[in-house]
Amino acid sequence: MDSADFEEEYQRVEKIIQSTEGVLGFHDLKKRKMGDMILVDEHLDVDAQVSVMEGHNIDLAVRNQMMKELPVLNVMTHVDPV
Ligand SMILES: [Zn+2]
Repeated sequence: MDSADFEEEYQRVEKIIQSTEGVLGFHDLKKRKMGDMILVDEHLDVDAQVSVMEGHNIDLAVRNQMMKELPVLNVMTHVDPV
């Protein structure tokens, strides 16, 4: 895996986060390689008015989409109400 692939994966991750409904923004996005797999660490900005349940569903939507598109081993999500 060369750095071009790594950069492409990073952009895919960003795109997935940005295209998920309910995500207002993100920060502290980190991606690490673990063998052939990827570990993602992210902070998602979510409307402070949404319920804990909705916040959880937004987190799940991002996670599921990443696992579908990329060899993601695990996603650590911190949800920030804004
Ligand atoms: Zn944060």
